[in-house]
Amino acid sequence: MAQAATLPAPAAPGAAGPVLLNFNECPYGPAPAAQAAVRDIVPGSGRYLFALAGDVRDTFAAQEQIAPDRVRLYPGSSEPLNRAAVVWTSATAGLVVADPTFESLGDLAAARGATVERVPLRADGAHDLRAMVAAAQRINAGLLYLCNPNNPTGSITPAEDIAWLLAHKPAQTRVLVDEAYIQYSDQPSLIGQVMQRDDVIVLRTFSKLYGMAGLRLGVAAAHPDRLRELASLGDNPVPVTALAAALASLRDPGLVAQRKAQNAQVRQATVAWLGKRGFSSVPSEANCFVVDVQRDGKAFVAAMAERGVIIGRSWPIWPQRVRVTVGTEAEMEAFRAAFAAVTAKA
Ligand code: PLP
Repeated sequence: MAQAATLPAPAAPGAAGPVLLNFNECPYGPAPAAQAAVRDIVPGSGRYLFALAGDVRDTFAAQEQIAPDRVRLYPGSSEPLNRAAVVWTSATAGLVVADPTFESLGDLAAARGATVERVPLRADGAHDLRAMVAAAQRINAGLLYLCNPNNPTGSITPAEDIAWLLAHKPAQTRVLVDEAYIQYSDQPSLIGQVMQRDDVIVLRTFSKLYGMAGLRLGVAAAHPDRLRELASLGDNPVPVTALAAALASLRDPGLVAQRKAQNAQVRQATVAWLGKRGFSSVPSEANCFVVDVQRDGKAFVAAMAERGVIIGRSWPIWPQRVRVTVGTEAEMEAFRAAFAAVTAKA
């Protein structure tokens, strides 16, 4: 008789193994109420449960004080990000992004033949929106990508700069605001803009603060015409397990504040520890930061991995800096020990 294959159990947060500080995941996983909701929905998951998707959309819209017809759910925010590249960039409609920033949109747009202008971040980590608007004019951009807080830096772009952008951008350039990390920061969201304008699209994800990277739920918020354009590439319902977890997370009253505070405390302690040893970081308001390791970033990442701590990578524009995800206190203790060992050697 054939034996059933046994799959390795996925590592739970805190399980033994390498310390994973490389993908900006939430080390605490889904909230307890979200985990219970997933377990409870499994017996009913033979159905599409479209009404549950409606509940998540309406609950999200109510919390953000926008109309439900401005909200569309996707299995992760990567999906609307990819769709945006397909729908709004082309050989004749370019893309303007910061450098460094989350790269998947720019990579896809470039692969499809769009001109992609990469505008270096300012020294304070903000997007250089004046230079980005000038670039948008130059290349007839269909899309300008604003990641706030930014990945990999966690740095923020001030609200007054964003107000200037919205007043001065070219009419044909849509602004795609990626707010994957907004709940970790003190910055105001731009999501309310989708009630006033038809050229601003805001993306959110449950992969970060809500700890649902493997469950997959993302949100696109925009004017209904823009949502229809994104949806024109076809439908793909969200897994009901993700919907159940998202609804429980949205209804968990203290979750955002508690995780935001926990992340800020661990991040600030780590950045301060690095600073005391002469390693500076770009100011961050997210669950990641970029530190200048004063040596080849790739080799540094490899040396950390040898000590069981997997950190993020470096970006071409900053070969001596690496991204680090903020883990639990215990994980950051392991990070500090490995960092001290690696930097003591060289
Ligand atoms: N946007 C940013 C800025 C990210 O950092 C990530 C993931 O790291 C994503 C989007 C995609 O996340 P997901 O598809 O899990 O929602």
